[in-house]
Amino acid sequence: MTTDFKPEQLVREGLKKLIPYNPGNYTGLIKLDANENPYDFPAGLMQQVLDTAGPQTFNRYPDAMAEELINELAQWHKVETRQIMVGNGSDELILDLMLAFGAGNRVVIAVPTFSMYGIHATIAGAEIVEAARQDNLELDVDKIISSAEGAGLVVLCSPNNPTGNSSGTDQIVAILENCSCPVVVDQAYVDFGGNDFLNLLAEHRNLIVMRTFSKAYALAGLRIGYLLTHPEIIFYLLKVKQPFNLNGFSQVAALTVLRNRDLFLHRVKKLNEEKIILYNALQKMNGVRVYPSDANFLLFETAIPSMEVYNGLLKKNLLIRNFGDPRLSKYLRVSVGLPDENKYFLQSLQQVIDTLREKKSC
Ligand SMILES: *Cc1c(COP(=O)(O)O)cnc(C)c1O
Repeated sequence: MTTDFKPEQLVREGLKKLIPYNPGNYTGLIKLDANENPYDFPAGLMQQVLDTAGPQTFNRYPDAMAEELINELAQWHKVETRQIMVGNGSDELILDLMLAFGAGNRVVIAVPTFSMYGIHATIAGAEIVEAARQDNLELDVDKIISSAEGAGLVVLCSPNNPTGNSSGTDQIVAILENCSCPVVVDQAYVDFGGNDFLNLLAEHRNLIVMRTFSKAYALAGLRIGYLLTHPEIIFYLLKVKQPFNLNGFSQVAALTVLRNRDLFLHRVKKLNEEKIILYNALQKMNGVRVYPSDANFLLFETAIPSMEVYNGLLKKNLLIRNFGDPRLSKYLRVSVGLPDENKYFLQSLQQVIDTLREKKSC
């Protein structure tokens, strides 16, 4: 190798500044940090997945177009198969959207929101334009529309991660009608609440709705997401899609889950009931401000600095979510867990706050 090999000179500025997404690796903790489905995957269904996956699921390449899965998704959502694309998690679809419509363009992102939009926009070499939400956490529709002038893509999330609130149909329609670029609405949490915007597809050629099996459908580990839009948008996405992006085993698992949807929707109902219990308890807690949520998590603020509360909970074996983004530094986010986990969280949070308060008053 020559001595003048300097990788840093070969990498563009945007990539040099990019901080990779680091979900960390915490074992043995009560995980209330990633909005996963806390219920174990049903054993009977797991057996069904294993029985359905044949030897060829392993030695042959998977169906590149995931035909069977897309057929059943299309029937469920009452759209044409040409309107659906599946991905290795919605994360991959976000990257594909950025590669197709963001690269060399501006991408408007309504913030604060899921950090993967910004990361994938940067990877694709897009210029990010942030349209801040209003103080009440609602979308700033006018700001989004004016920022989208000449942009390649607008990215919204409803219910929004991490704020938990969802957008109104009138807001989304106004954005769709006044932007001449694709508008993504990430609906990863829509099974838990908020408006479902799929019914806007028929009238709006620039709408892209994203969904995932990672939250309500308990398949985060198998990485299955999909989007619904119009064939003319799919046409461009197929150019950047990895041919075998969704592995065969995950295709079988997704089909099995789809055919047993009711079981998962029953659990969603239970999680929503738990969310209300958690919300009411947090609302009563001194020094805590909690925000209403249409998703399976709650955003809250504490009178004591959030990092101290976060670390106090870690010492009690509880992992929740804090945020590196300085605009989110006062917030914490907790996923709705199993009833016992939620009880332990509430009890621990109270203890951590009391202990930290005593320390401060000495
Ligand atoms: C969890 C989450 C997803 C899901 O991503 P996958 O890659 O499908 O697991 C998508 N969008 C948002 C906003 C999320 O919070």
